[in-house]
Amino acid sequence: MARRPLAPRRTGAELYSAAVAGLTAVVGSAVLAGWFFDVRWLRSISPEWPTMKVNTALCFVLCGIALWNLSAVNPTRRQAATGRVCAGLTGLVGLLTLAEHIWGLELHVDNLLLTQAEAGAAHPGRMSTAAAASFVALSTTLLGLRADSLRLAWLARAAGLLPGLLGLLTIVVYAYGVRGLSGVAAFSTTALHTAILFMAVGTGALCVQTERGPLSFLAVPGPGRDMARRVLPLAIGAPLVLGWIRLLGQRAGFYGLEFGLAIFAISNVVTFTALVWASALRLNRMDKERVRAALGAAQLAAIVESSDDAIVSICLDGVITSWNAGAERLFGYSAREAVGQPVSFIIPADRSVEDARVMAQVATGQGVVQFDTQRLGKARDLIDISVTVSPVRNATGQIIGASKVARDIGPRKRVEAQLAASFKETSELNANLEQRVRARTDELTASNVALHQSAAQLERQKAELERSNRDLEQFAYVASHDLQEPLRAVAGCSQILQRRYQSKLDAPAEELIVHIVEGASRMQALILDLLAYSRVSRGDHEPKVVDAGLAFRQAVAGLQSIIGETAARVTAEALPSVKADPGQLTQLFQNLLGNALKYRGSSAPEVSVAAKRSGREWEFSVRDNGIGIEAQYFERIFVLFQRLHTRNEYAGTGIGLALCRKIVERHGGRIWLESALGRGSTFHFTIPSGDSQ
Ligand code: ADP
Repeated sequence: MARRPLAPRRTGAELYSAAVAGLTAVVGSAVLAGWFFDVRWLRSISPEWPTMKVNTALCFVLCGIALWNLSAVNPTRRQAATGRVCAGLTGLVGLLTLAEHIWGLELHVDNLLLTQAEAGAAHPGRMSTAAAASFVALSTTLLGLRADSLRLAWLARAAGLLPGLLGLLTIVVYAYGVRGLSGVAAFSTTALHTAILFMAVGTGALCVQTERGPLSFLAVPGPGRDMARRVLPLAIGAPLVLGWIRLLGQRAGFYGLEFGLAIFAISNVVTFTALVWASALRLNRMDKERVRAALGAAQLAAIVESSDDAIVSICLDGVITSWNAGAERLFGYSAREAVGQPVSFIIPADRSVEDARVMAQVATGQGVVQFDTQRLGKARDLIDISVTVSPVRNATGQIIGASKVARDIGPRKRVEAQLAASFKETSELNANLEQRVRARTDELTASNVALHQSAAQLERQKAELERSNRDLEQFAYVASHDLQEPLRAVAGCSQILQRRYQSKLDAPAEELIVHIVEGASRMQALILDLLAYSRVSRGDHEPKVVDAGLAFRQAVAGLQSIIGETAARVTAEALPSVKADPGQLTQLFQNLLGNALKYRGSSAPEVSVAAKRSGREWEFSVRDNGIGIEAQYFERIFVLFQRLHTRNEYAGTGIGLALCRKIVERHGGRIWLESALGRGSTFHFTIPSGDSQ
């Protein structure tokens, strides 16, 4: 079954109109019933008060029907026709009655439905002049209620003010004292419920499409309406209440007519001044707020305009309603080109579903949505943006659109891409590096293993060498020791032969014997030296703290004969204590001093010995003024059997300095020399100090 569209709903004012229409028709009908069935309280609220006339009640029924039909939200033609007919009939009765009143005519409208009787009344069924005029005015209002012309509609509603005011006037008179009615002929026969219904129908008619009439200021939203709604009840009520109070005072005899009027006037002045004062304050405050709001709005507009971000607002159907300078820069379209266009013209086809989803979400008021996406620029290029979409609401909180704030994230995307690329590159480099490091580590491990192997091999070779050295030394020792005995025999025998057979043999034989003797003694010297050399490693004593001066003096004592022969001067400074094998230290001095004397120059030898501290050892020097040595032989002379001269020039075995080096190195020291040919030599050697410094 097809659903009928929902009928537009009545506003509060229109609901009031409908209620008034119903009430008027019901009360009118009740009064008619009161007349027909003679129910007095229905005709008049109090027995002393005037009754509502039959015509009046009939007219109210017609007015009620007219207002009911015409106050419908969209009256059908039938409703409008019914309403107008009823209104016309009311007007007709009013006009005829007015004519009777004004010109004293007898048109028989008073007893249309029923002849009424009222004591002392000339025309008991006739409504008052005020009531007749009010029905004419009400009829005008109802007839013009749905007029197309704005002016007519306004004038018709203005006419509705008359019955309203006349009704109010009558009610007030009733309130102040029903006797008041008798003073004014036009009102004298007006019933209280008549007055109430006039006021009700008059205001009810004004409430149909209020915005089209003089009371529009109460209907159209705005500061005027707010102000009027606040002030109006007081402006209407205050004078009525003040008038009533003034009357009460006067009746009680507190004051006379003039004073009472003065009090009434002054209290009205005070009330309205207070009203004006309060309204002025409120208006000023509202104006300030308005100015502040306008400033805020202007500031907001300036911020939006100067923002670097693109700020675009759209209504719910997707049409662009604002487009700031940032949007012009980002998308390339001017505000003139963009505003009024559907926002879809900057959305790429593949993003339209996403946009629709976001807009649906925003439209349900689910708050702000933020996401990264792409849009089309004027050059139809894709622009990377980050968008924040928020709902836009009107003053009543209803969502009327959305604002979109877009930021260009192209540069950020590019940097991210670069970073990703360089990260990839770095990762590759890292992987490469790791591979190389692994390869290098493998190589190093391999060479380490090789090194260990060669170190072990070296260790083995060293041990081998040491062993063969020991064997050699053992051999040299054994050989020189064991050779000594037969050599001694050869030397002894050859010397005996030389002594006994001297001058008994011929010259060649004697020469041979001399050779044998010399050879044997040379061999003895060589063997003694070798023996000394091979003994160094074994050492007679373990190194201990010894006086180097004593060792020097013992060496000098051993060289006394040659010192004497050569008239040499051998001196020494004060020498320190050192940690050494005493015998070997004496031998060291003896060898160096012996050489200094042997390789003397033309002048008498001068040999001096000195020592200086160098860290944890002592450095000794043996200086002479002998023949000197060329620098190229500085290393060679320390090698076993290496000599720089022939036996004819200088006797010797070539073992002395090799022995010196062996002794020094055994003590953990070094030996070296400074010399130049013909300018003497200085031999240096170091020996660990005997103290713990
Ligand atoms: P030797 O003296 O038995 O020949 P050394 O080993 O003591 O053997 O000396 C080796 C060589 O060093 C000597 O042949 C000599 O030429 C040279 N020599 C050693 N001491 C001196 C020195 N004080 N002055 C000059 N030459 C020296």
